[in-house]
Amino acid sequence: MTRICVSVCENSVEALESAAVRASECADVVELRLDCLTDLEGLERILSRISRPVILTFRPREQGGRRELDQQTRESFWKTAPRTEWWDIEWDLTVETDWSRIIVSHHDFSGVPHDLSQIYQRLASTPARVVKIAVQTNDIVDCIPVFKLLDRARSEDRDVIAIAMGNAGLATRILGPSRGAFLTYAALEEEWATAPGQITAEKLRSVYHVDQIDCETMICGLVGLPVMHSVSPHMHNSALRTAGINGVYLPLEVRDLKTFFERLVHPRTRELDWNLRGLSVTAPHKSAVLDFLDWIEPNAKEIGAVNTIVVDDDKLRGFNTDAAGFMEPLLKVFDSLDGLRVAVLGAGGAARAAVWALLKQQASVTLFARDVVKARQLEQVFDVSYESLSSASFATYDLVINATPLGSGELLDQVPATAEQLDGVNCVYDLVYNPIKTRFLQEASKVGCRTVPGLEMLIAQAKSQFVLWTGQTPSSNAMYEAAFAALDH
Ligand code: NAP
Repeated sequence: MTRICVSVCENSVEALESAAVRASECADVVELRLDCLTDLEGLERILSRISRPVILTFRPREQGGRRELDQQTRESFWKTAPRTEWWDIEWDLTVETDWSRIIVSHHDFSGVPHDLSQIYQRLASTPARVVKIAVQTNDIVDCIPVFKLLDRARSEDRDVIAIAMGNAGLATRILGPSRGAFLTYAALEEEWATAPGQITAEKLRSVYHVDQIDCETMICGLVGLPVMHSVSPHMHNSALRTAGINGVYLPLEVRDLKTFFERLVHPRTRELDWNLRGLSVTAPHKSAVLDFLDWIEPNAKEIGAVNTIVVDDDKLRGFNTDAAGFMEPLLKVFDSLDGLRVAVLGAGGAARAAVWALLKQQASVTLFARDVVKARQLEQVFDVSYESLSSASFATYDLVINATPLGSGELLDQVPATAEQLDGVNCVYDLVYNPIKTRFLQEASKVGCRTVPGLEMLIAQAKSQFVLWTGQTPSSNAMYEAAFAALDH
């Protein structure tokens, strides 16, 4: 059974009451973090308004709580604490109580302790009903000891909550219940998270369908750094649901690719028994992953980048769906790209796939980049000319493509070219997809250019990935609607 516990921690009784009532609407269990409150008057009223089982927690700062609590304050709190279904008590405190409702907990916010197994042993030797261990992850491989702890507790028939905190640990929050975790914690709102890496209960249910994951579930994921902002989990999970496939797609924040492939991915060396079927790869790893694959399709080799990996028995196969995904929307605008004069702005990974695909279609490509060294590297690999990006005019081009991040994230207000520079261009294609209608596309519309949003490429490349992993064609609508709902407008 999957239990989602929403943890709430507010500074006033009124705010805690309102959060707790909202939490009981979306959670299976509500955790009241009382270390946020200085005055506990009104606690009984809050408890009477929560319609779910409650975990009461009074966490000292050194274990991740919000304030300093000395031993005596903690002991006297628990002596008079109201009776609820569960009390979460840190393992350093001895309290005379009914152990059948105690969660005995240990938190480490500095990393994964080398003696994790002994810590578990110590906690498991108490009469507490549930053992909880939360450790900080700095890399995705830090999830391995946490998953191993879950496996061990299951084999010993011990109820356990084991969490890898931080973005790199998200897999433990999503897959934990299917591997025996007693519950998984969630936030009411992302900005109200009570621990690093906590996502909302709404997201756990509606994006990851955490209550439908089991040990048979096919697992796919997005490898990159950062990945938490990505809309790919929204699109792929929605398509998996619509197709009725028992699968889940996770963001996997990876720093050290080599260790990740050795210890978590490659079927011949990995330490985790999981039904991993495929990976998407995003910046900054698209070129570096080539070193860890058993087979690479010729197109991906030529482009020098892999954005899709399929785990086939004991082999890892690499593909590039970016190039075809990039071309799909263009072929709806132009009958042929033969001889088309195309300006590609940027010289990174996306530009590389775009240039390769354009040259295959016999287009005449000019690269505009700010970094001369990178542009020259591309010029040497592909048959393109190169010009400087600053104050260029594009009037003589049929198609202008933005393959820089200008117009999104921290560069939201910037444009790679203005309406004036684009005047006379037939079509403008922005690979940036968040927001959907970028300022660059708005500039292009002002001077009558046709426009292609990056969302079309995003969906096209994702559809090909889905086919490679599942053998089925995904619903474009499901992918589009999920991405549309998750993106800025
Ligand atoms: P990347 O490898 O980091 O390359 C980015 C390129 O943009 C580099 O040439 C970089 O130049 C240049 N650049 C960065 N900041 C700039 C600035 N302020 N002014 C001028 N040039 C700048 O990134 P990527 O993977 O190619 O992605 C580029 C964009 O395409 C991103 O927004 C990404 O989200 C989007 N994309 C969309 C899709 C899709 O499916 N729609 C797929 C892939 C990528 P330097 O080398 O000098 O930094």
